Amino acid sequence: MSGTLQIERTVAGVKQQVGEWKRAGYRVGFVPTMGYLHEGHQSLIARAVEENDKVVVSVFVNPIQFGPKEDLESYPRDLDADCALCERTGASLVFCPEVAEMYGEGFSTYVDMDLVTAELCGKSRPTHFRGVCTVVNKLFHIVMPDRAYFGEKDAQQLAVIRHMVRDLNMDVAVVGCPIVRETDGLAKSSRNTYLSDRERQAALALSRAIKAGREMIEDGETDGDLVLEKMRGIIEAEPLAKIDYVEMVRWDTIEIHHRVDCPVLVAIAVFIGKTRLIDNFIRE
Ligand code: AMP
Repeated sequence: MSGTLQIERTVAGVKQQVGEWKRAGYRVGFVPTMGYLHEGHQSLIARAVEENDKVVVSVFVNPIQFGPKEDLESYPRDLDADCALCERTGASLVFCPEVAEMYGEGFSTYVDMDLVTAELCGKSRPTHFRGVCTVVNKLFHIVMPDRAYFGEKDAQQLAVIRHMVRDLNMDVAVVGCPIVRETDGLAKSSRNTYLSDRERQAALALSRAIKAGREMIEDGETDGDLVLEKMRGIIEAEPLAKIDYVEMVRWDTIEIHHRVDCPVLVAIAVFIGKTRLIDNFIRE
């Protein structure tokens, strides 16, 4: 289904439109993104379109979730292509604010979290989840969605958002969606565009390691350390790859865990050249 897409750059514009929809009794689905949309994002939007009357997609490269040495400036952007994808997937509204619209002068309120952010990306990127929680909190207040859609590609982020919604009594149903991959296995990511041809080949070490780890557990291995050892070996065999982390954690609390005796997340972050890529699998 496709229709006329509304594009809003202001908080007031979104609030007004969503307010009208709510008064009309429509259910609103929401997909927060940083843009440069691909089929991973599209799967979230399509699911939201299926399950709601109206769907809002935000396209906002959130500066406060980037560390000082990270890729904020070079992060890929293509708003026209993003809007075209949103329209043909059936979204109703794209919210694409300027940074000043979201963080006006004197902005000084942040949402932070302890437990779920201590490991994995929270350890490697110490201010990242504070930025994510703050912007998602703001976006939830602006968009007032009934349901919000997040990819398991960023599994820790999904866990963090679920905790925030529960801890702060927010009336939003958080829906997790499976990872969409290229045909050769690489998890789709806006950052894949940074990779040279040689690096693109090397990046397959991530999905190879994920597949091997998943298969070991499916075959009955319950010793997490053996699974991680196997996965590290696969990545270390690729000369262009440098491991940031390869870890197993409890899926609910994101605490390091060594046995497959409860739902676990096995997550990896690997530098391919200068590009940091992540991948994971969840064993419920
Ligand atoms: P981003 O634009 O990278 O912030 O991602 C926006 C949303 O899309 C997040 O919830 C991501 O987890 C999700 N997403 C990104 N890539 C994928 C993918 N390959 N498969 C599924 N979801 C994805």
